[in-house]
Amino acid sequence: MVTRKISLKERLFQKQKENSALLATNFYNFETLRGIMEAASALHQPVILQLTQSSINYMGLPVAVSMAGAALQAYQVEGWLHLDHAESYELIEQCLEAGFDSVMIDASEKPFGENIALTRKVVTLAKQYNANVEAELGYIAKLGQSSDTVGFTDPEEARYFIEETGIDALAVAIGSAHGFYKKEPKLDIERLKAIRALTDTPLVLHGGSGIPAESLQAAIANGICKINLATEIKNIFIRTLQTCIASRDEIDLRKLFPPAIAAVKNLVVEKLNLIS
Ligand SMILES: [Zn+2]
Repeated sequence: MVTRKISLKERLFQKQKENSALLATNFYNFETLRGIMEAASALHQPVILQLTQSSINYMGLPVAVSMAGAALQAYQVEGWLHLDHAESYELIEQCLEAGFDSVMIDASEKPFGENIALTRKVVTLAKQYNANVEAELGYIAKLGQSSDTVGFTDPEEARYFIEETGIDALAVAIGSAHGFYKKEPKLDIERLKAIRALTDTPLVLHGGSGIPAESLQAAIANGICKINLATEIKNIFIRTLQTCIASRDEIDLRKLFPPAIAAVKNLVVEKLNLIS
């Protein structure tokens, strides 16, 4: 990205040292991107912009990449473009070619050996682009999956996995889940401490939506330096838009969207203040 000053890897290390974290926000369209940019710009904070395969399918790869780059430049925000939860090597290749700064290979549901092999292959590829690689170990419940069957990240396995693959960041399963929580999540901070004791690699918390502030801060104090936020952005955007549409007889989308953009901005400001 044009306004980037240092690599994401360096910035993550720096954040980890300072006991703070980078916010990684998914965006879905121009409006959610604008809300995120207004927040980051107002607070002069860096931000990681994330796209999933679904969002890329929705916007189209070239448009999505151009939007992210243009937004970071226009708002003078330090930022990086990251591919979230890619399961295919081919998608990762396309995204690196399109200019992504960072990719996540999610082979966490594959057997351990396959996860290592595929992740290692992605690390080799990403090196050619100077890109950052995040992988996941353990089981962070996906949307619609039961979080009762969560398999938390084993510290010793994490150390081995990092050494074998050469990844730049590891998403750990310590009690968070994707989507909203049915009951208040409790993060396994002792497990996180044990992982952190065995590795300096930046650690990532997925499922950041709805985790209480104190838990997030405890996680950051123990090595988490990237926090992913997606569900809350979709939720506040659509709920606000629904209310707007229901309460007014208005067809001008340029009047209907701004309150929803402002709601995303407020949410991101709140999260940035909490973690950085
Ligand atoms: Zn995730």
